[in-house]
Amino acid sequence: MPGSKRSRGIEFLIAVVVIAGLAAAVLIVKTVFFEDVDFFKKTTAPSDTATVTAATEPGTTALPTAVIPTVPTAPQEQGTSSAPVTVTSVPTTAYNIMHDTDNIIRLPTPQVITINEENWELTIVNVRFRMPEDYVVRTAPAIEGSDIELDYRVAPHYQAMYDAAAAEGCYLTPYSGYRRYSTQKTNYDNRTALYESQGFTHEEALAMAARVIMPPGSSEHNLGLCMDIVGTYDNWYTTREYAWLMEHAQDYGFILRYPREKQVETQVEFEPWHWRYVGVENAKLIKESGLCLEEFLNSPIYDAAG
Ligand SMILES: [Zn+2]
Repeated sequence: MPGSKRSRGIEFLIAVVVIAGLAAAVLIVKTVFFEDVDFFKKTTAPSDTATVTAATEPGTTALPTAVIPTVPTAPQEQGTSSAPVTVTSVPTTAYNIMHDTDNIIRLPTPQVITINEENWELTIVNVRFRMPEDYVVRTAPAIEGSDIELDYRVAPHYQAMYDAAAAEGCYLTPYSGYRRYSTQKTNYDNRTALYESQGFTHEEALAMAARVIMPPGSSEHNLGLCMDIVGTYDNWYTTREYAWLMEHAQDYGFILRYPREKQVETQVEFEPWHWRYVGVENAKLIKESGLCLEEFLNSPIYDAAG
C-alpha cells in the first residue's frame, strides 16, 4: 500500500531526528561537564575586559563533580599507606580557580616584607607580600635521615607530627619542604612559559602560573615553613594522610594552607598536600574558625589572641 510506504518513510525520518538529537545531547554534556578536565588547555579566549574583573563569589560558580580531575593511581612510596578512605567533607561544587580563565586577576606589584623574628611562624607571603631575596633560612632535616628540609624551628614539630601519624600506620613522608629562591624562580618561569605557549598573554600567564606555583619569594617553601606531603596529585584529599591531618595537624601547629573553599581569598588552587606551620595555638584557632591564614591575620580572633 502506498500509505504504509509513506509511514515507513516518516518512521525513518523520526529515527534520523532522534539519533541526531541524541548525538547533540551527548555533545552538549561533553562540552558542559568535561571540557575543564583538560587541566591546562585554554578553552576560551578571555576578552580584554575579563582579565581585570574580580573573581566571582565562592560557591556561585557551581561546577559539577566531573570537573575535579582524578588521577587513577597515586604515586607510591615505600612505607606509605595509600589506602583511600571515604572523605565526606570535601565540597564538590566549590569555585575552582584553576578552571576560571575568564577571571584572571592581574598580579599586584608585591611588597617586600620585613620578617619579624618574634612572630616568625605567622609570616605571610603570597602574591601581595614577598620575602627579601637575601633572607637566610636556617634549615634542618624535616624528619630524621631525610634530605628534605624545613626551617630548623619547624622541623621538630613536623617530626612529632610524623611520629604520631606513623604510630597509627599513616606515613606523612616529606615530599617538598624548603625550596631555594632560585629554584622557585625556575619553576615559576617554566609554568609561565607553558601558559604563554597556550595563547595567554604574558600578564595572564604570570597570574595563571601563580595559582599553582608562587612567584619566587612569595612561596612559603622559600621560607621553609611548609611541607608538601607524600606527593602532589589531584585526588590527594581522598588519602588516609589527608583524613589524619584534617583531624590532628592543628595539634602539632600545622594548617591546611590552601583550602578548596578559600580559593578566592588565597588566589591559590586547593592544595590538599600543602601543610603550613603557624604554631599550635594559632593552628587551633584557625581550624576552629574555618578562616584561611589571610583572613585570620585580619580577624578579631587574631587580635584577641595576639
Ligand atoms: Zn606546597
